[in-house]
Amino acid sequence: MSRRITNVRAPGVVTAIAALLVTACVPRPSPLRQPIDRPYRADSGSIALQCGRLIDGVTDVPRRDVTVVIRDGRIAGIEPGRRSPAGMPVLDLAGHTCLPGLIDMHTHITERPEDTSDLTVYFRRTRDEQLALSREFAAATLLAGFTTVRNLGAYIAWTDRALRDAIDRGEVAGPRMQVVGYYLTIPGGGGDLLVPGVPEADIPAIVRQGVARNPAGFRARAQAAIDGGADLLKVIASGAVLAFGAEPGEPEMSPEDIAAVTAVAHAADRKVAAHAHGARSIREAILAGADTIEHASLIDDEGIALAKARGVALSMDIYNGDYIDTEGRRQGWPAEFLRKNIETTEAQRQGFTRAHAAGVAIVYGTDAGVYPHGLNARQFPVMVERGMTPMEAIKAATSVAAKYMGWSDRVGQVTPGRFGDVIAVEGDPLTDVRRLQQVAVVVKGGLLFKD
Ligand SMILES: [Zn+2]
Repeated sequence: MSRRITNVRAPGVVTAIAALLVTACVPRPSPLRQPIDRPYRADSGSIALQCGRLIDGVTDVPRRDVTVVIRDGRIAGIEPGRRSPAGMPVLDLAGHTCLPGLIDMHTHITERPEDTSDLTVYFRRTRDEQLALSREFAAATLLAGFTTVRNLGAYIAWTDRALRDAIDRGEVAGPRMQVVGYYLTIPGGGGDLLVPGVPEADIPAIVRQGVARNPAGFRARAQAAIDGGADLLKVIASGAVLAFGAEPGEPEMSPEDIAAVTAVAHAADRKVAAHAHGARSIREAILAGADTIEHASLIDDEGIALAKARGVALSMDIYNGDYIDTEGRRQGWPAEFLRKNIETTEAQRQGFTRAHAAGVAIVYGTDAGVYPHGLNARQFPVMVERGMTPMEAIKAATSVAAKYMGWSDRVGQVTPGRFGDVIAVEGDPLTDVRRLQQVAVVVKGGLLFKD
């Protein structure tokens, strides 16, 4: 009898043990987790995070063993010890470091690197087709711990606005976004999608919304961007690396063109991000009132002194040159782009070191989209190799970034009243900043998107 029972039950016991092993070994999604493919109510979550360590984005010394309480999408309090407030889920993050959700100040979240080998794809796609692609990029960005981005240009105008609004409505999982709608650029400039061999007449107007020739023209296009829902404006002050026919060191928009845009933007309480590689363009954009200089690849000492004196931040994408030179080459990107990348990569890294040493504000901007979304954190180790402490690099991607996007009251710090955007990594990113490339937990607006 007992033998028979043993025989009968043994397979059941084995199955149960196997099931237990599977349960223990295979990470299962927490029942708390918001699936990225389901609609949700943005900024509606409540959760308590018991953090082994907290970097709040502002203070230089991490706190130990605190509980971050997020209620109805906002940070409600930071309490000492491991607390379990009534009526909300609790996540045990002992052994982890919690940080504010990261901010990337320079993305192209609706676009992808593979399309750089043939930019004419943008002449054939509709905005809806581009938007459909971008859902995946938005999710990858969010799951990498970047809960806020500035999108500094979309070839198909306003794709970024559509994505921003879909995220805010809870239809797409992605970061909070500030968008420009389209590039403000001269005809044939770094933001004008002219492609050799394609007659201008065959290029759809939707990819040339921000092309203008003089201050009056730029004033009108800037106002149209604001009226259309842009959160900030983007001017192409110099040539670009990933555009045909212009050299990064050469000025494009005139100082008067740029000043026309900054006047319109600032009157509407919007910021201006200026794409400027060359030393002269950098100086001219700062003097014309730009709030951040993007790339700043060939910045000289005068430009560094000006940026510091005027409180202008640099957003220097010092990782992606490696990607372009290897993957871009493998994907067959145009030879002209690869050459200009080599001419700017190391110069930009040296400029970064000098600007940082001089005390210029630097924000975390990667140009993601030039390289795959979700790899945004790859720039942290380069910033540390080139002179920043890990804490400085983290602040560049949190409170300092928030300040320069005008969102200090919303994001960039773990402080009561801010949105409940908190991430966690295993161990201590201050001893190894590469840990930020392996984000374990992502909470945005109190909703757990990754655990
Ligand atoms: Zn860019």
